[in-house]
Amino acid sequence: MSDHYDFLIAGAGIFGLSTAIELRKRKYSVGLLNPDTIPHPLAASTDISKVVRMEYGTDDEYMDMAAYCMDSWRSWNELFGEELYHEVGFILATRSPFSDPGDSFEAASYRKLLDKGYSPVRLNGNIGAYFPAFNPQVYPDGFYNPTAGFVESGRIIKKLADYAEQLGVVIHQGQTAQVLEQAGGKCTAISTREGVRFEAGHVVVCAGVFTPWLLPELQPYIKATGHPVFHLRPGKPELFTYPRFAVFSADISNTGWYGFPVHPTEGVVKIANHGVGVTLHPENDARVVTAEDKRKLRDFLRESLPALADDPIVYTRRCLYTDTLDGHFWIDRHPGIEGLTVGTGGSGHALKMGPVLGELIADAAEGRTHRWSARYRWRHIESGIQQEEEARFKEN
Ligand SMILES: Cc1cc2nc3c(=O)[nH]c(=O)nc-3n(C[C@H](O)[C@H](O)[C@H](O)COP(=O)(O)OP(=O)(O)OC[C@H]3O[C@@H](n4cnc5c(N)ncnc54)[C@H](O)[C@@H]3O)c2cc1C
Repeated sequence: MSDHYDFLIAGAGIFGLSTAIELRKRKYSVGLLNPDTIPHPLAASTDISKVVRMEYGTDDEYMDMAAYCMDSWRSWNELFGEELYHEVGFILATRSPFSDPGDSFEAASYRKLLDKGYSPVRLNGNIGAYFPAFNPQVYPDGFYNPTAGFVESGRIIKKLADYAEQLGVVIHQGQTAQVLEQAGGKCTAISTREGVRFEAGHVVVCAGVFTPWLLPELQPYIKATGHPVFHLRPGKPELFTYPRFAVFSADISNTGWYGFPVHPTEGVVKIANHGVGVTLHPENDARVVTAEDKRKLRDFLRESLPALADDPIVYTRRCLYTDTLDGHFWIDRHPGIEGLTVGTGGSGHALKMGPVLGELIADAAEGRTHRWSARYRWRHIESGIQQEEEARFKEN
């Protein structure tokens, strides 16, 4: 006899877990499948830290969504009785003065924050005074926004899974969705690689980079792209510890580089690159960081954060984005199969939106419209299109 749920969700990353919690709060019976363990070691949501920022250049919607999520991150600290969201602020350093024509990502974000009543601290010619680790020659301008920080994402995923179970979500770890069964044009069940069958009134696929493999019709629009992550053991940790350091981006839309202060428990400085990445098959291709990636990191550090330039790299990871061609999330009902909804397409920037993703996906599954759902609907995307998320470095 198969288990039956009102809603059955495949995937327990931030998309799947926030949806399970939201649907359970709406009083539905909810089942959740995930391979191996939660947090899954290879999941994008599983990491020691992820940036929580409102800065999206000229993009009002993402800024408003991120601002909407800030209070939830703080309240989740209370709910879970532990500070997993660290509001240490965000340093946005730039090589081009705000006065330069062409409106840099930093200049546009700064103005948007002021327009919305926030009080960022301008760093024009004085970044060294506030954050001595930075090479002030390279970064003549920028700002520091105290309303931002990082979340210990892997630990939040564990807490959210425990919380979901407390609410009554039935979690099936070690179950890998393999077939989305249909009857009469409606999705009615999931059969797993492990040989189990689960029935549902409605299925929600939040399987991250595996989503286009469960739904091949998405493959033209969604790719798995791999991005390098480095953990360094700082020789001068005092220079990279809050409040003398914070989450940072270094001319990110032109370089991709960003990073974090010394991690409270791991004791490392994480640095990563928000660039084009390399397209990979999520299961068949190796997820490795190359010597060339490391050389680029060293070049960046030598110029920008010299005190870290020769410190040991103690861990690397090539983490995968579920990358839509336009960089926007993919949240909608399937246009051709009833009883099936998709929540995916994080494109390297969705973790911070965790508190609102569940609402967006639950509304889509219920056939409702959310104030922010229009842009993430099922859509045709021309292949040559550029990523539209403004912090993203778009050159190879
Ligand atoms: C290097 C890197 C840095 C990032 N930095 C940031 C940042 O600083 N700030 C930010 O906001 N965002 C960031 N992101 C983006 C963010 O991490 C992702 O957008 C988000 O975590 C994606 O969540 P997800 O639930 O879609 O996928 P995942 O977290 O990957 O979860 C998918 C889940 O589905 C499961 N699954 C897979 N196949 C199946 C199946 N067949 N059946 C059932 N379950 C399945 C997996 O095991 C996994 O648990 C970053 C991402 C990467 C890769």
